[in-house]
Amino acid sequence: MFSFELIAQSTKDRARAGVIRTSHGVVETPVFMPVGTRGSVKSVSPEELLAAGARIILGNTYHLYLRPGCDVIRRFAGLHRFMHWDGPILTDSGGFQVFSLAKLAKISGEGVTFQSHLDGSSHLLTPEKSIEIQTCLDSDIVMCLDDCIQYPATREDSWEALEITTEWAQRSKRTWQETQTGRNALFGIVQGGMFRDLRKRSAEELMEIDFPGYAVGGLSVGEPAEVMLEMADYTLPTLPETKPRYIMSVGIPENLIELVALGADMFDCVLPTRNARNGQMFTHYGTINISNAQYKEDTEPLEPGCECYTCRHYSRAYLRHLYMARELLAYRLNTIHNIHFFISFMKQIREAILANEFESFRKAFYRKLEN
Ligand SMILES: [Zn+2]
Repeated sequence: MFSFELIAQSTKDRARAGVIRTSHGVVETPVFMPVGTRGSVKSVSPEELLAAGARIILGNTYHLYLRPGCDVIRRFAGLHRFMHWDGPILTDSGGFQVFSLAKLAKISGEGVTFQSHLDGSSHLLTPEKSIEIQTCLDSDIVMCLDDCIQYPATREDSWEALEITTEWAQRSKRTWQETQTGRNALFGIVQGGMFRDLRKRSAEELMEIDFPGYAVGGLSVGEPAEVMLEMADYTLPTLPETKPRYIMSVGIPENLIELVALGADMFDCVLPTRNARNGQMFTHYGTINISNAQYKEDTEPLEPGCECYTCRHYSRAYLRHLYMARELLAYRLNTIHNIHFFISFMKQIREAILANEFESFRKAFYRKLEN
């Protein structure tokens, strides 16, 4: 079971609000998805995620396949019961980690061979295998294996990766149709490097295969923000209006709001969780580094007015103390605030779109940041 309903469209730009329905619950878009790499959003429990506003999380196929492995997760009929998260889960294909983490990743027509970063064991990840693993995880949104190239990449390399991505998307869809239980959705991933015509070609080839949703991949791989936004600006309108559009692995609030304006619906990024563990906290007035000496005796909450558990109960001075003392609670409290910030930011954006006031919300957002 999967559907997407578009419920509001901004009249001054391409921002839109929608509802995704999955067999594990409803997700209102635009949405930010916290990343639960190894079956856990680092340092927080599912109850804390829910309280922070999270309704859908992401799991990483590469990590879960290597450890604990499908044999373990199958005993729980999927990742939901294994990790005690009842809401929707999106899993990536494993491709990105194979290229960034594994050793000796080698691509062929068949798939990617690689050596585990854990124990050096050899594996072959094919489009079929990726669907099989994601089906075992009982993921609500399954991603096709794609060929993620480095930045910068030549036109020839970008072209070749696009062709492989299309062929793998066809094979992914075939396997998904043969094995699916009717409970999940398979998304295609647009590639094409930083070349407009290749992005268009990739989108067209994927639409011909026909997916219930589309992701724009290969962005935020080291290119300047203007190039990332230019590619998104060009690619997003080529995708069907009636399907959800997901921009993978981006990013800071300023990029998120611009991508919403360009018509994107779904986002994920490790930024709020990873930066929380490094003491960098997001607020509407910019980021705060909690280790900074100026917070030593500061009795105020991280962000006055924030309704998260951390801001309701703790001061900047206490959070700084925990962080400096390397107390484990620091990671948890910091993560709760950052996740709450990203999710409530998306909720505010959604409300502004519903009221057709997104443009004034966007201006007010930048005004606050400059203060
Ligand atoms: Zn807070």
